[in-house]
Amino acid sequence: MEKKQSIAIEIALQTQVLKTCPIHRKIYFDDDADAASAFALAIELVRKHKPYVEEFHDNEHELMDLLSDTLSATPLCCPECQSLGVLGSLRERSGFVESALESR
Ligand SMILES: [Zn+2]
Repeated sequence: MEKKQSIAIEIALQTQVLKTCPIHRKIYFDDDADAASAFALAIELVRKHKPYVEEFHDNEHELMDLLSDTLSATPLCCPECQSLGVLGSLRERSGFVESALESR
């Protein structure tokens, strides 16, 4: 993976906008997360001239573009989990909780 892109991914992971599936180690985009927080952190790191983002010190727009490209290219859930139907079983489980509450 290109180093610049891995920096963008790292920033998104730090802000929990991107998450890593604990089972498959695949990165996915958390729909509930505030994507703006990843951009805010990216800007802050560049403005403070953190060595971590030194490749972007003169070009924060490049980091912003890379970040938005990365976020839009990342699936909304772990592709492996999706193919296993984990999302379906999660939905069933929440339905079960609801019916349990109703029967009280
Ligand atoms: Zn997974």
